[in-house]
Amino acid sequence: MKPSLLDFKLTGLQAIVKPSFRSKQIYSWLYHNYAQNFEEMKNIPKALKDELAEKFVVNPLKIVKKESSIDGTIKYLFELQDGKTIETVWLKMKEEIRDESGNLTQEAKYTICVSTQVGCKVGCAFCLTAKGGFTRDLTAGEIVGQVVALKRDNEHKHNRMINIVYMGMGEPLDNLENLAKAIEIFKEDDGLCISGKRQTVSTSGLSNKIDRLGEMDLGVHIAISLHAVDDKLRTELIPMNKAHNISSIIEAVKRFPIDTRKRVMFEYLVIKDKNDDIASAKKLVKLLSGIKAKVNLIYFNPYPGTEYERPTKSDMITFQEYLVNHGLLCTIRDSKGIDISAACGQLKEKTQGDLS
Ligand code: SAH
Ligand code: SF4
Repeated sequence: MKPSLLDFKLTGLQAIVKPSFRSKQIYSWLYHNYAQNFEEMKNIPKALKDELAEKFVVNPLKIVKKESSIDGTIKYLFELQDGKTIETVWLKMKEEIRDESGNLTQEAKYTICVSTQVGCKVGCAFCLTAKGGFTRDLTAGEIVGQVVALKRDNEHKHNRMINIVYMGMGEPLDNLENLAKAIEIFKEDDGLCISGKRQTVSTSGLSNKIDRLGEMDLGVHIAISLHAVDDKLRTELIPMNKAHNISSIIEAVKRFPIDTRKRVMFEYLVIKDKNDDIASAKKLVKLLSGIKAKVNLIYFNPYPGTEYERPTKSDMITFQEYLVNHGLLCTIRDSKGIDISAACGQLKEKTQGDLS
C-alpha cells in the first residue's frame, strides 16, 4: 500500500514538494478540484508528477457501489488499496428553498458520514459492523479521501459548507492518531476549510480517549453512544462498558471542552423491550442532569439474524415526551435512506460475495 497525498497537512506536503508554490498548486488540485490521479494535475511538471507517483497515490479509494435513496441519501461502498471495503454516506439534511420567482433562498445542506476503521473491535451486540470483527485502522488519507470522493461525485464545490460525522464503520477514538490528523487536514484553510465545529466524533465511550481528544483541543463536537442507563444492560449491548462504565463516561464528558453555546449529544439506540420503558427515561434524565446535553433517539434498525427489534413509534414518542417534559432537549433521528441499506455495515454486508 502506497501512502496518499491526502495524508498531509499543507506544511507536510511543503516538506516534500519544493518550491512552496508547487505544493500549494497540488493542494489546490486535491481539495479544490478533487483530482483523483496525477494526470488531472495539468499545470504540474511531468517530471515532478512521475517522481511523486513512484511514492504516492492521489486518492486511495475507489467507488465500487452506490445506492441512492428517494430522500437524497446516497450510500457508497469504497474499495481500499488492499481490497478491503468501507462505507460512506452522503446525507441530505435540508432541502433547497426557492422563492416565488425561483431565486435560491437556501442551498441544500449535506452531511457526510465517514468510516474510521475496517470493522470494529468494540463488538456491540446490536451492530452489523461488529459482526465481521476488526480488520484494520484507516489511514488519515483514507478518512480524508471519503469526503473528497463524495464531494467530487456530487459536484459539491470546495467552498460550499459540509458537515462531517464520524459515525460510519469503526470506533473513531480507537484510531485517535489518524482521526486527529484527518480532522486537522479537513480544517486546512488551503484545503476544504471545514472547521472543528462542523465535525462530530461519535464514540461508544472510551472514556480515557475522550479525555485525550479533549486535550488535543481540535474544536470538534462529540456524540456519545450511550444506549443504556444501567451498566448491566450497557455491558450486554457494548461489552467494553466493563472497562469504561457509564459514570466514567459522564465524568469524561464533563471535562470535555465544548463551545459554551453548544451541547453534547447523547445517542440513545432504542430497542424494543430492552430500554424503551419510562423507568429508563427517568434514569436518563437523572444521569444527564448537570450536563448541557441533547439526546438523539435512534430506532434500532434490524437486519437478518439479529435478536433485537425495532421499537414501536408510540413507545418512541412517549419516551421522547417524557424527556422533553423533564427539561431535556430530545430529537428522534429520522431514518434516512431507510429504503436502501440504512444502518452502518449494511451495504457492505449486502455486497459481500459479489465483490470478491
Ligand atoms: N463507533 C462509533 C461510531 C460508529 S457507529 C459509535 O458507536 O458511536 C454510529 C452509530 O450507529 C452509533 O450510535 C451506533 O450505536 C449506531 N448503530 C449501530 N448499529 C445500529 C443499528 N443496527 N441500528 C441503528 N443504529 C445503529
Ligand atoms: Fe463499533 Fe460503533 Fe458498531 Fe459499536 S456501534 S461495534 S463501537 S461501530
